[in-house]
Amino acid sequence: MIELHDLTKRYGKTLAVDRLSFQVPQGVVTGFLGPNGAGKSTTMRMILDLDRPTSGRVTIDGKRYGQLSEPLKYIGALLEAKAVHPGRTARDHLLWLAQSNRIPERRVDEVLALVGLTPVARKRARGFSLGMGQRLGIASALLGDPEIVMFDEPVNGLDPEGILWIRNLMKRLAGEGRTVFVSSHLMSEMAVTADHLVVIGRGRLLADLPMPEFIRRNSRSAVRLRGPEPERLLDVLARAGLRHEPGPDGSYEVVDGDIARLGELFAGQGVVLHELSPQQASLEEAFMQMTADSVEYHAGDGPGLDAAGAPTEWGAGWKADGAPQNTTARQEEN
Ligand code: ADP
Ligand code: MG
Repeated sequence: MIELHDLTKRYGKTLAVDRLSFQVPQGVVTGFLGPNGAGKSTTMRMILDLDRPTSGRVTIDGKRYGQLSEPLKYIGALLEAKAVHPGRTARDHLLWLAQSNRIPERRVDEVLALVGLTPVARKRARGFSLGMGQRLGIASALLGDPEIVMFDEPVNGLDPEGILWIRNLMKRLAGEGRTVFVSSHLMSEMAVTADHLVVIGRGRLLADLPMPEFIRRNSRSAVRLRGPEPERLLDVLARAGLRHEPGPDGSYEVVDGDIARLGELFAGQGVVLHELSPQQASLEEAFMQMTADSVEYHAGDGPGLDAAGAPTEWGAGWKADGAPQNTTARQEEN
């Protein structure tokens, strides 16, 4: 188990990690979600003792990383910056790592097979695609057969097949009882990967809860109604005792409304509707709302699109003041 106690990191004036305390449980995939610049990579580097905390502490099975002998047998990590010598072959890179942790040579071939790199094991890393490099990084992380694995934004830049492969691998590792800690700046990715969710913004803990609980709390459904005679529309709702909220463009939203019943109700009353549509607040929106104060990027900064067509930066669809620009909801893809 990884435990953080009041973990803090300051770089000059930047408070990168601000008194973070949480635990990463065993046997599940824990998603570490936050906008760019939230402090995810800094936190992960501190877990691995690659960066010294300004204050607070982090332990792995009760010990600091530096106190672990042969640390690859406890924790394996894939960090953002990859440290593979471009002139080395995949196999040589792993052998070199294995030797420093007294890991037998046959484990090198095992992990190469596990990540599907056996055919290119003797090719130099220089010629590797992003996906192959990522697989080699994962092979390094798994080399010591560690109880804990940590991946920093592992799906960034990967094609859909690579993304699916990593997702399934993480689930399998957790299924074997390991602790899997994975960061992402994409809610959509976490929603389909993580069992547990830790959200940070500006270095601070914003949420720490099971994924189903996050989904339950944050996926609001409503029926949107719009018509040419708003007074009559509201009158029908009031007489039926239906709670409603104002929606965009002069519409009204009935929270948890039954769309068929509403259609029949308005037809029965002879009140014309121009819109009767189901609305599902997306997890994306919930996450943006949660981190609205802590985004480094806002609309207008020109967010790019990733392979899946999702915005790569925060702020897409949001005004600079943090208010939703467009409440048209999108169903989470599962
Ligand atoms: P994330 O991984 O969530 O995108 P990071 O941990 O990379 O966030 O960064 C958190 C904050 O700390 C950012 O404001 C970033 O600019 C700053 N930061 C990260 N590493 C350094 C460093 N080595 N020196 C100075 N500032 C840093
Ligand atoms: Mg990062």
